[in-house]
Amino acid sequence: MSTQVSTLAIAFNKMGQAKDFLMSHQLIPTPVQYWIAYEYSVAKHPEVVKCIDNYLIEHNDLSPHFVCDLYERCFIPTSDFELTQSVDSLLDNVLQDVSQNGALLDKYAELLNNQVGEIEQSGTTHAVEIINEVVRTTKKTAQSQYELSQRLMHSEQNAKQLQQALKEAQLEAITDQLTGLLNRKGMDKKRPILEIEHNQFTIIMMDIDFFKKINDDNGHLLGDRVIRQFGQVIKNTVRGDDLSIRFGGEEFLIILPSTDINGAVKVAQNIQTKISKIAWKNKKTGATIGPATMSFGIADRCNKDLWDDRIQLADSALYKAKETGRNKIVIHPDKEI
Ligand code: GH3
Ligand code: MG
Ligand code: MG
Repeated sequence: MSTQVSTLAIAFNKMGQAKDFLMSHQLIPTPVQYWIAYEYSVAKHPEVVKCIDNYLIEHNDLSPHFVCDLYERCFIPTSDFELTQSVDSLLDNVLQDVSQNGALLDKYAELLNNQVGEIEQSGTTHAVEIINEVVRTTKKTAQSQYELSQRLMHSEQNAKQLQQALKEAQLEAITDQLTGLLNRKGMDKKRPILEIEHNQFTIIMMDIDFFKKINDDNGHLLGDRVIRQFGQVIKNTVRGDDLSIRFGGEEFLIILPSTDINGAVKVAQNIQTKISKIAWKNKKTGATIGPATMSFGIADRCNKDLWDDRIQLADSALYKAKETGRNKIVIHPDKEI
């Protein structure tokens, strides 16, 4: 068999394994799911193999979400340089400690060797003296070993803390603190994977009506509560694949992959119905406020290259909804629901 043919056979074999992996976990072979299945089959990326194996210890099956998260973590570069550098420098320290330890042990072995040689040469006359020296050296080496193991344990703890801090910082950086939805940075971070997995998107842009008045009449804290609760409604209404983003102050955006215009209208209507049932109490005056309303602009299906343009179109449909009375859903350019 020529080298080319055998390479081809290996590649097809791995492809077959990736396919079996996808089928056994009932994963649809989208690019990202296939990528991870392939990486797992070729076992070249230790993190992928370790994470999947660990996950399967506690779960019966892999979920597409878990696979997407893993892909994001392992294959989409992050910009958290500072923390990454801390982890790197910690690892450098550990490596340095380990190599120092290796040198120490080499030296110790050489010393013992010399002393054994001396015993052999001198007969028993200096044996006690030499054995005492061996004991002293052994104790010293044991002490260095102990100190080293303490340092390594400490480093390991630090590495774990840094890893956790890194995870938290990464999540915090892409999350809007008030609502828990994604922020703009989060949208940009999630975008590549969404674009790999899906070809088309529908976009809903929404904005709370007369929000300035809610703030002015009841204070910013109540305004914050309204934003938080609307964010919660959005989060609970969308599907797992959809991206919900706090786009600005009281403005939200939902990106719905593989959803047609009717599906998007349904989502907007569900949100509208849910928020129409919420009332708030002004804690100072005791007055009941609400329900507050939102206006919605929807842009029809677009492909990934038109994503930014379509956000603009959803925004102009939202503007239309505002202009023509608010608390309504408008599909771009001006179709009122
Ligand atoms: P419209 O119906 O046309 O959208 O009117 P509006 O009053 O909602 O819009 P406008 O843009 O005039 O006011 C938005 C207000 O939202 C102004 C700003 O102070 C307030 N806002 C923005 N972010 C926050 C926030 O995080 N918390 C609170 N409480 N208010 C916010
Ligand atoms: Mg508003
Ligand atoms: Mg606004």
